[in-house]
Amino acid sequence: MFTRKCELCGMDFQTASNRAKYCKYCRDKVQVQRNRAYKEKKESGTAVKIGSEQICPLCGKTFTVTSGSQKYCRNCTPPRKKAPSNTEYLKNHYDYIRVNVSKGEREKIKEYAQSQGMSVNKLLLTALKEYQEHHK
Ligand SMILES: [Zn+2]
Ligand SMILES: [Zn+2]
Repeated sequence: MFTRKCELCGMDFQTASNRAKYCKYCRDKVQVQRNRAYKEKKESGTAVKIGSEQICPLCGKTFTVTSGSQKYCRNCTPPRKKAPSNTEYLKNHYDYIRVNVSKGEREKIKEYAQSQGMSVNKLLLTALKEYQEHHK
């Protein structure tokens, strides 16, 4: 066993290693600090500077970073804003009317619409228009 002076708190401590620098209380603290320093270094190392040139790991092309989290070139980055889905588009541009039909009629209407080369929606609207024209 060696008696050493802790570099952090100055306390004498017993250790089996002649290279030990810290008492057992400070050793934990030092380890925590080291971990933190390592983490900070790692994080600052991976953060990309906006406007800097990076090489896309997917296609290997050079690109200019436009946001801090950008990892790939514009071609390889999936678009963040998806085009509004069909349902969303419909919701924004159309009102929805639910039409109840007798059991089994739905398939017949669908088939009829298909035979007319229309969607059920179009068929109903066309039918409505025709009705309105005849009932003014
Ligand atoms: Zn100590
Ligand atoms: Zn790319």
